[in-house]
Amino acid sequence: MAFDPIQSLSRVRHEFGEHGGVNMSIEASTTYTVMEAGIMPEIFQGRMGPDTGGCYLYGRHFNPTVYVLGRYLAAIEGTEAGYATSSGISAIACAIMQLCGPGDEIVASNAIYGGTFALLKEYLPLKTGIKVKFVDIGDMEAVKAAISDKTKVVYTESISNPTMVVADIPQLADIAQKAGAQLVVDNTFSPMIMSPAQHGADIVVHSLTKFIGGCSDIIAGAVCASKDFISQLMDLHTGSIMLLGPTMDPRVAFDLSLRLPHLGLRMKEHSRRAMYFAAQLAQLDIPVAYPGLSDHPQHDLLTGLVNEGFGFGGLFAIDLGTSDRAFEFMNYLQQQESFGYLAVSLGYFDTLMSCSASSTSSELTEDELREAGIQPGLVRVSLGYTGTLEDRWAQFERALRHVGKL
Ligand SMILES: *Cc1c(COP(=O)(O)O)cnc(C)c1O
Repeated sequence: MAFDPIQSLSRVRHEFGEHGGVNMSIEASTTYTVMEAGIMPEIFQGRMGPDTGGCYLYGRHFNPTVYVLGRYLAAIEGTEAGYATSSGISAIACAIMQLCGPGDEIVASNAIYGGTFALLKEYLPLKTGIKVKFVDIGDMEAVKAAISDKTKVVYTESISNPTMVVADIPQLADIAQKAGAQLVVDNTFSPMIMSPAQHGADIVVHSLTKFIGGCSDIIAGAVCASKDFISQLMDLHTGSIMLLGPTMDPRVAFDLSLRLPHLGLRMKEHSRRAMYFAAQLAQLDIPVAYPGLSDHPQHDLLTGLVNEGFGFGGLFAIDLGTSDRAFEFMNYLQQQESFGYLAVSLGYFDTLMSCSASSTSSELTEDELREAGIQPGLVRVSLGYTGTLEDRWAQFERALRHVGKL
């Protein structure tokens, strides 16, 4: 049967508050009482955890509130376990560093979030001796050719930032598995919409800062994977989350846990509006990248990967030809129409727009931008759900007219 993230989330054991409250309590403690001194060595050797008669030990290791958020996120992704971190980039960095050491190789998509690109291209090779090969992730022959016996990770985003290229997760999982590598998928763009682990991804990472948080008020991340991998990340001696320490505050975990019950509703509305905008833009012959449109190169692929009922996501990109026109367009919408903000990030309840080449993807060189298909006039729009759809479209049309595109 098809995976249903809403049903999966609803089946997670509910955590009542300390006094029977409908919401869980916030466990704001950094250390935990060991009730019997004799069991301390057992706890430290990892033989006695919170579920087996021990205790949570110390807040950087495990916090019950953060632990519950991890369980909820794991349910949404359909993985055995999950754990939340203080940012998306720390979740990505820790997952990768847990899997790779000096001399190991990563095959990564060349169209990924700029911060991840810089981490893989500059930081990790320099600091750890990990080698990274970037490929067009849609080109399976290129992916296979880049794989070697040292490849430990194949890395991609489910839907890429900002070009809206959809990754063929089943094929990539197959290639990775044959090579003895792990497929790591960043699912930040499509929570609920797609569940990469259901299609063979080994590890799913998230920036919770975007759609999952939904209010542009919290930086946070998560790793969803097997129980075994999550415990590796938290190992007292060799765990990258444990030892590098991107710990999520329990208050933040509590806040985020209250946003999961309506994540599905929000994603549906983001998608419904983005689909409407994309269809209108296509009709007006404005170059638009949106995987919900039937002429998008990976539309059929995505149709086969999505969970039913959540649409195709809240992001689309339009090419306005030049960066000057892109800037004028965004200025007009923000200043004259009070529609949207000229701001990086995405997944906010209001609309955010940015010119990717000169902002979130500015870590890429001009050649890399061209290879990744990021045009200078490309405006990425993360469509919010405030205001009425008809009114918002009318505003968007006026902005297009203002820059001479209508
Ligand atoms: C924002 C983002 C990240 C980084 O997440 P932070 O929470 O800012 O650390 C990683 N991947 C994608 C696709 C993103 O959009």
